[in-house]
Amino acid sequence: MPARRDVDVADLINRARHADPRAVARLISFVESDSPLLREVAAGLSGTPAQAHVIGLTGSPGVGKSTTTNALVSALRARGDRVGVLAVDPSSPFSGGALLGDRIRMSEHSSDDGVFIRSMATRGQLGGLAAAVPQALRVLDAAGCDTILVETVGVGQAEIEVASLADTTLLVLAPGLGDGIQAAKAGVVEIADVYVVNKADRGGAEQVTRDLRQVQSMSAGRHVGWKAPILKTSAASGDGIDAVIEAISAHRAWLGSSGELEARRRRRAATEIEAIALGAVRQRFAAVVGSAVLDKAASSVVDGTTDPFEAAEALIRAL
Ligand code: GDP
Repeated sequence: MPARRDVDVADLINRARHADPRAVARLISFVESDSPLLREVAAGLSGTPAQAHVIGLTGSPGVGKSTTTNALVSALRARGDRVGVLAVDPSSPFSGGALLGDRIRMSEHSSDDGVFIRSMATRGQLGGLAAAVPQALRVLDAAGCDTILVETVGVGQAEIEVASLADTTLLVLAPGLGDGIQAAKAGVVEIADVYVVNKADRGGAEQVTRDLRQVQSMSAGRHVGWKAPILKTSAASGDGIDAVIEAISAHRAWLGSSGELEARRRRRAATEIEAIALGAVRQRFAAVVGSAVLDKAASSVVDGTTDPFEAAEALIRAL
């Protein structure tokens, strides 16, 4: 995206702080597109510590993450919270693509001015997900969100990465998908703070709960002092959602009293800084070294004039 000199970043930030949804959307699109204005945005948003409680939702496609997110938003709104929803698609280069766009249009909360819903694609962002998500969270925080739900579309490592960016991570499972076992294999059981066994209106929820208990008893758990509760829900009807909200509140209280909130946020910032720094180094490498220099170095490794470590070091020195 070209630099838009006519954009008044300070004004946008000021409007976002007054909860203007268009300003919020605009700032998040700067994050998404890796705009040249992003540094100015980041500087403008710093100065106050984060307030919002960040809840990550993870789980296989079809388990009911989107439905659960919707139900949680209703419950949080009933409590008077201002809520942000960030739907992250780590694999797509396009924002508001068919999948995410539909999910958002379907949301019953899209016309509620106490709810900010934004989808975000992160491919191509300098530093990837690890950098993009925290920046978007800061925008939503500035808009006064008390709670931010981060939902991932897609599976795999990126999902775990997003989950690890949250203060509280919910792992959503459902009967009939072999989910307990899948989750154990993928290593997501360890990162969950609350397990949600959704579609409890269907048979098999008990079995998922038992599988999960067993997996849980074999793993050390994410942290001493907090045992992740296993809760059954039927997100489609809203059954069990209040208990999830209570578990999230209890986890938040524990995070505060144990010092874990600070620790998690520091880890998140460290990962973010590292991702930005490595992204910048990669960009600089591409700009300074270029393919001709790399080709020349490759030839000298192939013909035996030098070894790859020596060649790599010479390129690093040129940075
Ligand atoms: P996601 O891919 O994990 O976000 O899953 P969705 O929220 O899109 O839900 C997938 C399907 O499961 C949809 O057809 C939902 O209507 C359905 N679903 C979600 N929650 C429940 C539930 O509690 N019970 C039943 N029976 N179906 C549900």
